[in-house]
Amino acid sequence: MRNISHFSLLNSHLKGGPMLANYGYKDASGDFFITIDTDKCNGCGDCVSACPAQIFAVADEDPNDPLREDPVAIVAADKKKKLKYECNPCKPATDRPPLPCVEACGTGAISHSW
Ligand code: SF4
Ligand code: SF4
Repeated sequence: MRNISHFSLLNSHLKGGPMLANYGYKDASGDFFITIDTDKCNGCGDCVSACPAQIFAVADEDPNDPLREDPVAIVAADKKKKLKYECNPCKPATDRPPLPCVEACGTGAISHSW
């Protein structure tokens, strides 16, 4: 998964597209990806403190983008394969409130696929 997202990120960069880092997985019940637009992310860390499940971290360098040298949000390695379960408390079946991570990010860098 990491290699695929690494490749697609670089590919996107070379084409001048947005820098989107996708973290997550797909299984029989759906696609569970958190996408961080690393062009928008300023490394502020507000998502880290907003998330009750410690999904995010701020890395000194982007593990997906060797061309970037500024701090950037990433999804913690031990959470990537568990997003459906970790995020479940934030996502009730009905009347889903705004997600704390999305609300906390002032630059609009975070999106979820489900
Ligand atoms: S809150 Fe948004 S801008 Fe700040 S570190 Fe998280 S993703 Fe980046
Ligand atoms: S939906 Fe909730 S648990 Fe999932 S990343 Fe956002 S704040 Fe964290």
